[in-house]
Amino acid sequence: MDSDVKRLAILGSTGSIGQQTLEIVRNFPDKFQVVGLAGGKNIDLLTQQVAEFRPKLVYSSLKAKLPGMEKQLTIEEMVSCSEIDLAVIATSGKAGLYPTLAALKAGKNIALANKEVLVMAGEVVIHEAERHQVQIFPIDSEHSAIWQCLQGEEAKISRLFLTASGGPFHHYTQSQLMGVTVEETLRHPIWKMGKKVTVDSATLVNKGLEVIEAHWLFTTPFESIEVLIHPQSIIHSLVEFIDGSLKAQLGFPDMRLPIQYALSYPERLPNPELPHLNLLQTGALEFEPVDYDRFPCFKLALDAGKAGGTYPAVLCAADEVAVKLFLEHRINFVDIAGVIEETLSRHQGIINPSLDEILAADDWARETAFHVACELD
Ligand code: MG
Repeated sequence: MDSDVKRLAILGSTGSIGQQTLEIVRNFPDKFQVVGLAGGKNIDLLTQQVAEFRPKLVYSSLKAKLPGMEKQLTIEEMVSCSEIDLAVIATSGKAGLYPTLAALKAGKNIALANKEVLVMAGEVVIHEAERHQVQIFPIDSEHSAIWQCLQGEEAKISRLFLTASGGPFHHYTQSQLMGVTVEETLRHPIWKMGKKVTVDSATLVNKGLEVIEAHWLFTTPFESIEVLIHPQSIIHSLVEFIDGSLKAQLGFPDMRLPIQYALSYPERLPNPELPHLNLLQTGALEFEPVDYDRFPCFKLALDAGKAGGTYPAVLCAADEVAVKLFLEHRINFVDIAGVIEETLSRHQGIINPSLDEILAADDWARETAFHVACELD
């Protein structure tokens, strides 16, 4: 075995980030090898991926028996396998939490796309990473940008600026927002992403989750993290240092770049498949503040982050339920905020929660959010 080859387990391989991770592997067969693949409902795609990449370990959440699969593993068994160097957590929502903790406990570095893991249980996850001396490489484009800006820096951070495209409804009035459809919401102007995160980008709950994610990844207080609407999505985020110097990371908005960096770090790889930015064609770069009144989910998420304890887990769970009901045409776009707000207000938070208390809050919030949504009429 070539020691330069990084051996990967990819969790959520059939999702948007998982598929793009496999594209990078395809581009660099000498650099990366797929040892484990884990997928969910899309069995056909998982079967195709297994046939192409021939991983030694395969996990199907539906317990499907796939060709070449020797035995049903648990996902925890997969990520702790001795032949894996890096676990790519490309699941979404709550699904990534246990596998992430299992990978950290097994001493694996992780490339993390599943932001809810840090939002729900940031303190527990960071503590495990420190205890086992492993690293968390962010895949989220904003956090990858900050991570890239921090390379070679010993200097203290003064502020972090996360950029946001603003999503498809950035200029909609309150009354226009009342009538938006699922189809319009899924038409994100810039980024190609899964359904959950695309809806979260339209409500801006995603940006609130990303502030919480940044708080944990970069040990930065909430007061020092700001969000800028930047419709061109060319600057992926910025770091201000204590001397006032600002560093930004720019690039064509394409998730394959942050994915590739998380896989190849600390190396950078030339990839002819990735688009390069032409600044002369980009034109002006604009910045605007977030409108809290039109996008209440953003403030709800921020407040839950600042409250800490079990509140961020309740936020994530209520949002997951509300987004699912919206995608099923059972509630309106503007009701997503209402469901989250009411669920948070009914919650009695626990400070410094254990993992069990976080998961209990998650269960409670899913049930409560569903009831809240049913009461809407
Ligand atoms: Mg992002």
